[in-house]
Amino acid sequence: MIERRQEDEMLRMTLMGGQVRVMLCETTAMCQRAADIHGATPVCTAAMGRLMTATAMLGVMMKGERESVTVTIKGGGPMGTLVAVANHGDVKVCADDSRVQLPLRADGKLDVGGAVGREGRMSVVKDLGLREPYIGQCELVSGEIAMDFANYFTVSEQQPSLVALGVLTSGDAVLKAGGLLLQPMPGCPDEVIDQLELRSPMFADISREMTFACKEQLAEDWFRGMQPELLERTPLRYHCGCSRERMEKALISLGRRELESLIAEDRGAELGCHFCHSRYAFTTGELQELLQRATRD
Ligand SMILES: [Zn+2]
Repeated sequence: MIERRQEDEMLRMTLMGGQVRVMLCETTAMCQRAADIHGATPVCTAAMGRLMTATAMLGVMMKGERESVTVTIKGGGPMGTLVAVANHGDVKVCADDSRVQLPLRADGKLDVGGAVGREGRMSVVKDLGLREPYIGQCELVSGEIAMDFANYFTVSEQQPSLVALGVLTSGDAVLKAGGLLLQPMPGCPDEVIDQLELRSPMFADISREMTFACKEQLAEDWFRGMQPELLERTPLRYHCGCSRERMEKALISLGRRELESLIAEDRGAELGCHFCHSRYAFTTGELQELLQRATRD
């Protein structure tokens, strides 16, 4: 029996003695935080929540302390571009427009694919610290995000994967959110893959399942007889990490010309963070200091 915990968390597990890699997470609080920060409508909360949940899986897979992953989805839908960044268990998200409203689909579900758009690209950039970044790109297949990630893993990382993502909302409230990733390792017998496919309807509606049982219980139910083994737990949270210092660097990176014209306008500058909506104001005097630093460097 796996010990039960309530907070947002990623469980890294294996099945069948390591033949299948499993990531199972709850992300309810994280998705609620994103919805609150961005004043998101339910369909946008679902889109951003699914993207954050899948990005958290990629983040937790990365080993180095300073490594992070950025996933960008441009689907041509009314939400515009969606970006999620994960630094291990710290995740953040933003979208061009998080207030898009769309009618429910014929099956009564939120139209995430309609909000994100179905034609475009998804890119994954893994910042590997001192090494060259890894960049993977693929076409979107549905805009519903789970299928898009499954396609990304298969096409770009040559790793066949089953991905389930869910964000269950009621008005502005996120009732439950979470995700599951299953990856058969090379040499995994077909019988094991068949078993997982046979069981896949059980985890198709993962956020609803989570309203009935905690993730630990679900793992036991879903993977009964498949030797589920817990390797690691990683706490997950919405965390931005922006700072005045980073904004100064962003201003400096605008270059001398741009800084000089801001100083000449003499109205200071205000920068807003897309991920947490913090605002950073700079006076003309402070901009002059930054210009001096830019000239020095
Ligand atoms: Zn921020």
